[in-house]
Amino acid sequence: MFFDAHLDLAWNAIDWNRDLALPVHHIRAVERKQGLQHKGRGENTVSFHALRQGGVFTFVATLLARTVRETQMPAFRRYEHMEAAHAAAWGQLHYYKAMERQGHLRPIRDAKELGAHLASRGDRQPLGYILSMEGADPVLTPDELGEWYDAGLRVIGPAHYGPSPYAHGTGTVGGLFPAGPALLREMERLGILLDVTHLADQAFDEAMDLYNGPVLASHHNCRALVPDQRQLSDEQIKRLIGRGAVIGAAFDAWMLSPGWIRGETRPETAGVTIATVVDHIDHVCQLAGNARHVSLGTDLDGGFGREQSPADLDTIADLVKLPPLLKARGYDDDAIHAICEGNWARFFTDAWRGK
Ligand SMILES: [Zn+2]
Repeated sequence: MFFDAHLDLAWNAIDWNRDLALPVHHIRAVERKQGLQHKGRGENTVSFHALRQGGVFTFVATLLARTVRETQMPAFRRYEHMEAAHAAAWGQLHYYKAMERQGHLRPIRDAKELGAHLASRGDRQPLGYILSMEGADPVLTPDELGEWYDAGLRVIGPAHYGPSPYAHGTGTVGGLFPAGPALLREMERLGILLDVTHLADQAFDEAMDLYNGPVLASHHNCRALVPDQRQLSDEQIKRLIGRGAVIGAAFDAWMLSPGWIRGETRPETAGVTIATVVDHIDHVCQLAGNARHVSLGTDLDGGFGREQSPADLDTIADLVKLPPLLKARGYDDDAIHAICEGNWARFFTDAWRGK
């Protein structure tokens, strides 16, 4: 069983117009038939069927609707104004609600719901999701956060690629913007958890100083192995461990292999496989001195497909290849369970119980 802390399901369903109720190969065929050429088109790896096949019964699912900012990521649809991002994110939220009504998904909003989901999961049960927001661009002002919380939002990453209205993000240099501290204070008051993934280094430091609640890094790899600001430095990893955080290892090959050029490098030629993800998992475990602070945040179908995923991964169901690879590195069954699922289950349970 797996717990994946980062999947952009609604964004795939709406912005990429993918019917996630179909098997992966069917979604690929639809896109190829339509002649779609953007990156990742016809190469997707995630659908509800593939999640079930792989035993990924619990995950964090995002709202992703960002405004126009300097970024090298043309695949991301960017809204010209925050009001559009706001409305788009509410639209994405209603996609999840529709999937609940159809029996595909079940919302997890507190420790009790998480415990009940983990105890009852099975082939006939809905997949469980915790709602998060990647980039706080849809939040017009921090005082509307209560409304988002009531609708189920439990995690926010204030920035994405480029700056958001609240903080500097990936690929930029700087800290929080003037609206950032008020956002963090309101998140803390409501119990919305802080996801530090995508924060620029200075913004990471400032957010960690200001926010006193539980923190996580939903989809983040190690800068020691792939030198880029998108990854966490050892110092940042140690600071997160000190706060009881869990870090989700990402399966984006650009974040796994140094020197990867999007659209050019291929996983086979770069030698990127699921074992490469294990290198990043192991690095966090070595820094922590245990296996309690790392888990999964695959980010599969997060703007890329098979062309930018580990070469031995066809769909997310191939996560089943991970436990034997961890075993081969010397991890025992308890550690493997913790990495695949247990650490996120503990993190969210403790965070919601105020531990
Ligand atoms: Zn991301």
